Amino acid sequence: MQIFKTPAELQRYALELKRNGVRIGLVPTMGALHCGHASLIDIAVKNCDKVIVSVFLNPKQFGPSEDLSRYPRTFDADVELCRSHGAAAVFAPQPESMYCSDASTYVVEDAVSRPLCGARRPGHFRGVATVVAKLFNLALPDIAVFGMKDAQQLQVLRRMVRDLNFPVRIIPAPLVRGEDGLAVSSRNVYLNDDEHRRALVLHRSLEYGGDELSSAGIGAIPRITAEMKNMIAVAGGEVDYVEALDFSTLEPADASSSEILIAVAAYFGKTRLIDNTLIKIIT
Ligand code: AMP
Repeated sequence: MQIFKTPAELQRYALELKRNGVRIGLVPTMGALHCGHASLIDIAVKNCDKVIVSVFLNPKQFGPSEDLSRYPRTFDADVELCRSHGAAAVFAPQPESMYCSDASTYVVEDAVSRPLCGARRPGHFRGVATVVAKLFNLALPDIAVFGMKDAQQLQVLRRMVRDLNFPVRIIPAPLVRGEDGLAVSSRNVYLNDDEHRRALVLHRSLEYGGDELSSAGIGAIPRITAEMKNMIAVAGGEVDYVEALDFSTLEPADASSSEILIAVAAYFGKTRLIDNTLIKIIT
């Protein structure tokens, strides 16, 4: 497995593969890799010839009061995980080599990036879309795998690919949970045992919400989200948002909605966790 540290090295490698008709897969990550990331690599390996995993803690998607400086960094273990899951290359640039100090061009998705995390984390999805566009230009992937864990991010990037005609097929990967139901996340290491135990309410509340939505329909959304907020608060979480939206538009669900995303964000101690479930509406 090769390790590239600069954009130029990666682009040279990808151009050479392309000239030889090799199908490239890309798995963008911020490092501190876990079994959720590994599942994305496995999917990529099955769907192309060579998989490139980017390990880049992208400063442009963190707000000034967010956790960039304390985000876990486990580079050696990350490389080992990529190798053992069959990646062909890891791309691990420093921020200075990714962004010129006077960089002034950004990619802004202006609809599905607005609600949920977009409303709470100004600039976050601009940072995400910009770095993923750059990674697409460097790694030249035929396919790119993104997890349902970050369902809104997935939808923002699908729009970006559609609207800007990137020749990339986006493959969504199922959300991976631990045995206790907590969505696996690099940020889970911030939780102490008590916070971890309390955070299990997120999955419980989503199961409740999904069941209620399936049986009572979209008219019950205000009642369901209110009850979910209550469940999370009772368990000791501080709710950031609980919303049920049309998955394709991330606007309020209506009679034409075929899939509803129930998305939650809540703090346990200082740690902000997100989780979600996707409910198909059978008419
Ligand atoms: P991150 O390193 O947190 O930026 O995540 C990189 C990619 O891994 C994103 O596409 C995430 O959605 C995905 N991912 C992170 N955690 C999980 C999980 N528990 N299940 C599925 N995908 C995940």
